[in-house]
Amino acid sequence: MMFVHASASVLRQTARSSSAAALSYLNARSFHITPLALEKLNVEGLAAKVDLSGKNVLMRVDLNVPLSKDDDVTVTDDTRLRAIVPTTKFLLEKGANVILCSHFGRPKGEIIEKGKNGRLNPVVEPLKTLLGVDVKKVNDCVGEEVEAAAKALNKGDVLLLENTRFHKGETKNDPELAAGLGKLADYFVMDAFVQPGYLLDKELKYLKGAVDDPKRPLCAIIGGAKVSTKLPVIESLIEKCDVILLGGGMIFTFYKALGYDIGKSMVEEEYVELAGKLMKQAEEKGVKLILPPDVVLADKFAEDANTAIAKASEINGDWMGLDVGPETLDLFKEEIGKCNTIVFNGPMGVFEMKPFATGTITVAELMAEATDRGAITIVGGGDSVAAVNQAGLGDRVSHISTGGGASLELLEGKTLPGVAALSEA
Ligand code: AMP
Repeated sequence: MMFVHASASVLRQTARSSSAAALSYLNARSFHITPLALEKLNVEGLAAKVDLSGKNVLMRVDLNVPLSKDDDVTVTDDTRLRAIVPTTKFLLEKGANVILCSHFGRPKGEIIEKGKNGRLNPVVEPLKTLLGVDVKKVNDCVGEEVEAAAKALNKGDVLLLENTRFHKGETKNDPELAAGLGKLADYFVMDAFVQPGYLLDKELKYLKGAVDDPKRPLCAIIGGAKVSTKLPVIESLIEKCDVILLGGGMIFTFYKALGYDIGKSMVEEEYVELAGKLMKQAEEKGVKLILPPDVVLADKFAEDANTAIAKASEINGDWMGLDVGPETLDLFKEEIGKCNTIVFNGPMGVFEMKPFATGTITVAELMAEATDRGAITIVGGGDSVAAVNQAGLGDRVSHISTGGGASLELLEGKTLPGVAALSEA
C-alpha cells in the first residue's frame, strides 16, 4: 500500500489524478514527487514508523459496487467492499481514524441522488457490517462541513466521504479539490487498484502473467455495454490473444459495421467504423474474433418483455438484443474448451434481468469448468465479478480482479504509472 504524508502539496499532487482512468496518482515523474515526499511503505511499514493513534488517515478506495436494478440501492456484489477490510481494520487497530474516499460511477460533476452514479449511501450499511464498527458519512468530500466532521473524529472512527465525482475537478486535476482533501488528514493511503499491497500483488501476478506470458491458447471474453472503453482493449488483445469472444451490448456496433439490421439494440454510432477495422485487423493477424451468431431479443428493455431467439443477421426492426443466444453459447463452450488461459471481462447480456442472464451465467460456468481442467481463469470488472459470485462460482476461477477499469488497462498492455513507480523503487 502506498502512503504519502498528507502535506497539502503532496496530496495535491496525488489527488489530482484520482480518476480511475488516470491512474497516474503515483507517477513520480509527472507529479514531481520527490522520493522523500512519496514514501513507498506498506501499512505495516507506516505503522512501525509513526504513531497513528488518533491520526486521520485518508484512504483512497474503490467502492464502485454494482447496485440492484430493482431498487437502485441494494449492493448486489460486495467484493470491492470486502477488499478494503484488511487495510481499514489494520489502521483502526493502530488507533487511526480512517476517512474513506471513492468515486462512484460517472456523475460527471453533477450531484445525482440515487443509483450507480449517485451518492455513496448504499455502501454505508454493508461497510458497517463488514468492518464491525460505525461508519459515518458526509454529503460532500471537501468543504467546511466535511472538515468539521474530520476534525471531530475520535480514535478508531470511520468517515465515508461523498462520491468524489460530484466535483468536476476530480477528473480534471483540480488543485483546489486536492487541497480541500488535504485539509482532512495527516496521512494518505492508496488502497485502490494501484496500491502495492495484497490486491495489487495478486492482480499483477495473474493479469500481467496472463497477457505477457500466457499458457496458450489465450482467450479473452469481452462483454458489456461501453464500446468506447472496450474497443482499445480489443485492439490490443488482437495482438496477444488467439481467440476473442465478444458479447454484451457492444456487439451491435460490430453488427452495424457488418451492415446488419440491429433493430432497437444499443449502438455507439461513432465507433461503427473502428469496429469494422478491428474485425479486419483480427482477420489479417489470424486471430479468431468471434461475434455471437445468435441473440436473445426483447420487445422492450424490461424483465417482463416478450422474448425471442434470432440469428444476429435476422433481427427484426422493432426488437432489441439483450443477451447472446444458445448457439453462441455452444460455440463459446467449444472455443473456451480449447484454451488454457481465459480472461472474462464484461457481461454477455443484461444479466441484471433474469431472462437475459443466461449468457453471462453460462460463461461464468464455462470459466469454472475450465479452471477445473487446469486452465488459468481470470474474471475482471464489477459486473462480471458480480455475475460469477451470484452463480456461486467465485472460488472456482483462478483470480477475481477487483481492478475494474484498471484491469482492462493492464490487459490493454498499458503500464499503469503506479506500477511503474513501484518498479523503479
Ligand atoms: P460495461 O460497464 O461496459 O461493462 O457494461 C455493463 C452493462 O452492460 C451491464 O449493466 C449490462 O446490463 C449491460 N449490457 C450487457 N449487454 C447488453 C445489451 N445487449 N444491451 C444493453 N445493455 C447491455
